Amino acid sequence: MALVRTRPFGASRYDVPVIGQGTWNLPRSGAPLEEAKRALRAGIELGMVHIDSAEMYGDGASERAIGEAIAGIPRERLFLVSKVLPSNASYEQTIRSCEASLRRLRTEYLDCYLLHWRGAYPLEGTMAALERLVDDGKTRMLGVSNFDVADLEEARSALRTHPLACNQVLYHLEERGAEWGVQPFCALHGIAFVGYSPFGSGDFPSEGTPGGKVLNEIAARHGATPRQVALAFLVRLEGTFTIPKAAHVAHARENAAAASLELGAGDLAAIEAAFPKPGRDEPLAML
Ligand code: NAP
Repeated sequence: MALVRTRPFGASRYDVPVIGQGTWNLPRSGAPLEEAKRALRAGIELGMVHIDSAEMYGDGASERAIGEAIAGIPRERLFLVSKVLPSNASYEQTIRSCEASLRRLRTEYLDCYLLHWRGAYPLEGTMAALERLVDDGKTRMLGVSNFDVADLEEARSALRTHPLACNQVLYHLEERGAEWGVQPFCALHGIAFVGYSPFGSGDFPSEGTPGGKVLNEIAARHGATPRQVALAFLVRLEGTFTIPKAAHVAHARENAAAASLELGAGDLAAIEAAFPKPGRDEPLAML
């Protein structure tokens, strides 16, 4: 099976798979946790080497599970991302949070470290800490999550020495508001647009719904599944990535195979009609 295709991560020199792996709400113990770790490894073998985590996920348990799942895999093959909680986003605590994430992940460095969402700490201090982490080799790149265009502009002006590499935002078939302002802004400024919760965080359109029927028809034409159709649609735009979470090997394999599905103009038009983007720009939605 071919490896998941890659594209440049924003304006950076890194090529990253268009489909990666989320790790929110991983099982915490026993056989389900072991299956989730196998799923991560299966995904990595198929090229989904972009692994997304956060100190928030299971209070560090997700990072620990990733650390175990990636043991023995050459670090340079992986693209590891984590996030600092807004409540920890002072200058000093951002540094400490990153160091704690590195220990849990059992790695020397992250590929990108993000502010999870905007909180009460001024952006200047958080951005300065992220830049310091890049300078110290603890992360290769820095970024944000859940940032609307005005927040992105502010973050960019707060940065002194390193570019804003990534914005991770809610993006799935029924939540396409980011296409109005955020995605074009990211494309214009070389910021990787990473869409999260591509399956609506477990609320994927079911077969019986009008949208579900459209996905089924397209999937049947391509010998694919409705979720693969959704993933292919969500990475159709320049500079976009998606990070489905799968705690089962079969799910990880299905998601990886979506990267080779090519939707035609008719397919895209049918999806556009069934899952239209909102009629006007609205504040960015988040989970
Ligand atoms: P999601 O990826 O939209 O959906 C996950 C659900 O879909 C799980 O129940 C999973 O089942 C199921 N699934 C995955 N692949 C499947 C397949 N091929 N067939 C059937 N079911 C499948 O949900 P999400 O976890 O909310 O979002 C993905 C990632 O985005 C997160 O894990 C996290 O890393 C990131 N995220 C970031 C933010 C942020 O604020 N930055 C917020 C939310 C999420 P199993 O797990 O049982 O396989």
